[in-house]
Order: sequence, then structure tokens, then C-alpha cells
Amino acid sequence: MNRVHNFSAGPATLPLEVLEKAQKEFTEYQGMGRSVMEISHRSPQYEAIDEQAKARLTELLDLGDDFEIMFLQGGASSQFMMTPFNFLGQDQTADYIDTGRWSNKAIKEAKIFGNVHRPFSSADSGYDRVPTNDELELSDNPEYVHFTSNNTVAGTQFPSEPETGGIPLVCDASSDLLSRPIDASKYGLIYAGAQKNVGPAGVTIVIIRKDFLAKADTENVPTILQYQTHTEKIFNTPPTFNVYMVNLVLEWVQEKGGLPYFKQFNEKKAALLYDEIDSDDFYRGAVEKDSRSLMNATFRLPSEELEEKFLSEAKEHDLMTLKGHRSVGGIRASMYNACPRESVETLVNFMKDFRKNNG
Ligand code: PMP
Repeated sequence: MNRVHNFSAGPATLPLEVLEKAQKEFTEYQGMGRSVMEISHRSPQYEAIDEQAKARLTELLDLGDDFEIMFLQGGASSQFMMTPFNFLGQDQTADYIDTGRWSNKAIKEAKIFGNVHRPFSSADSGYDRVPTNDELELSDNPEYVHFTSNNTVAGTQFPSEPETGGIPLVCDASSDLLSRPIDASKYGLIYAGAQKNVGPAGVTIVIIRKDFLAKADTENVPTILQYQTHTEKIFNTPPTFNVYMVNLVLEWVQEKGGLPYFKQFNEKKAALLYDEIDSDDFYRGAVEKDSRSLMNATFRLPSEELEEKFLSEAKEHDLMTLKGHRSVGGIRASMYNACPRESVETLVNFMKDFRKNNG
């Protein structure tokens, strides 16, 4: 087996144990003589997968009985539309904290439905940080406050939930869901494309607090785009194999020790890499230290030529997909839950050698 060190921002590396379990069950699931992909989404076997995945998410995120969970399609991008469609009327206002490319895309969609107020934006400094609570200038009584908990492109992350004085948070958690515990009581809605921390691309996880859901518009929204539609039972054919894979990843997360385990694991991995970046000024972190992401570390080298050389030599060491997002350049190492510590150690050793030879 020759698995490379995969630092892809997403779709990202999956736990090898999960891939191997799926491989074992690939052609025949639980003695049915058929694979998961070949059974009805109304079969008891699939319903068990759906229920188990939801129970695992509830346990891992400590959601209690207060939340509905749904597995939808369309990616986080469709949630940029679906959230305001359900929760933002023409004359209403929602606050959107602007911390980067993905926040911006969410704002663009929300504006189609209602008023958007930006309580903070780091656009002027190239999205190099997230706000402190003191910097948030919330509007009077917004319907919700939207934030992107981890900014996959810039490499910033909120160290904890922004303080809103009780206004429900709506969170795009696409690139850090399950990487650390959260305070569920602060959220009205959490959504995430699965393809970074939770499974393969093709399924979108949506978690909504029941009392927030009760405020959704159920008259002017097409049936499939109403969150309510997806709460009672499985509405239409879900991406069944993807949900099956998500369930295996959730099982793996639980077996490892849940979110407290991953918080520590991810902090340690990120510290290894950031310590190397900070060891002198050959490597330069791309964002402010207090805002650094534990999931996507972004950094620069002294020149673009050296960055090209770095990327091509990294590949020779099986260190893959380290190129920064095309909109910002530089280097980006994505280290989600499934990225082994050994991959980060190999990267750091390579960085030390590269600096010695080129510094
Ligand atoms: N939000 C964030 C934070 C992301 O990183 C991404 C994908 N990179 C998206 C939204 C868009 O997700 P999707 O492609 O699933 O629509």
C-alpha cells in the first residue's frame, strides 16, 4: 500500500480504518447479498444507518433532544441559499460576520432574500483574522448571526463561538465540524459539507435547534427547500452510500475518544507545524496568530519561485496537495481529524531540510 501524506483541503483524506471497513462491506452489506448502494432508502437496514449516524452526531456534539439532524444534498453552497430562504424575510435583517471567501458567498445569497448587516469584516486586511467579541457591531435584534467557524481559504478559525447576547448562531462549519467540542446551546443551525472532516463529498449535514426551526417560513418556500420537510421522515432518496460512509467516520471518531480527543490531537498537530513556521522568518504565517486555524495552516516562503520549488520537492516526498487556494497563493496544509500526526511530522522535517538548503 502506498498512501501519500494527503494535505488536501477537501475532499480530504479519510481514516484508513474507515476505507478498509467500507472495502470489506463494499459488495455485500450485512449478509444481504447486496451492497449498501443497492438497497432501498426505506429498508430497515438503511434506516438503521440513518438513525445511527444521527444518534452518533447527537452524542458527539452533545445536542440532547433539542435538535433535528438532516442529511441533504447540494453542499454547503446550497445552505447559503436555504438558510435565508427559510429564516430571512424581505423586511428582516440577519447579521453575517465577513471573514472570507465562503462568508462572502453566504452573504451574496442572503441578500437575495432580505437585509444583511456585517457586524465585522476583515476584507480590508486580506481576511487575515477573525474578530474578537468586542469588535462585533451587531444590528438591533437580527434574525440570526451567521459565521464561518473555520475559513478554509485564508486559514483562520474562531477560537470559540462569537458572543451574540442570545441571538441564535447560524454556522458554516464545513471545515471544522467534529474537530473540537462546541457549545450547542448557542446555535440555531449548523451546516457542513461532509468532505473535509466527516466523510466523502455528496452529503451535507444540517443540524437545527427545534425552537429555531419553528420560526422557519413554511408557506413561501418550495417543499424540498423547507427544513421542516426533512424532519419527519426521509423525504426523498438521500445519498445513501455517503451517509453510510459518514456513519463509519462517526463510529471512528467515537472510538478514538470523541471531540475532546480530537481537540487535543488537532492542537498538537497544528502546534508542530506553527512552531516550525515561527522558528525564524523563512516561513511566514499568512494570518494573525490569534486567528490561526487548527485545520488549515497557511504560510508563505520568501518568494513565489521558492514556493513553486517547495511544492514540487514536497511531492517527491509524497507530501501532496499543499498548494494554497488559487485566490490567495502560498502554501496551505490541511490537517483535519483524519490527517495522521506522522504526516505533519514528515512535513515539518521536510520544511526543516528545505529551509537549510534554500534559506
Ligand atoms: N464553506 C466552507 C467553509 C468551505 O470550505 C467550502 C468548500 N471548500 C464551502 C463552504 C462550499 O462547500 P460545497 O462545495 O460543499 O458547496
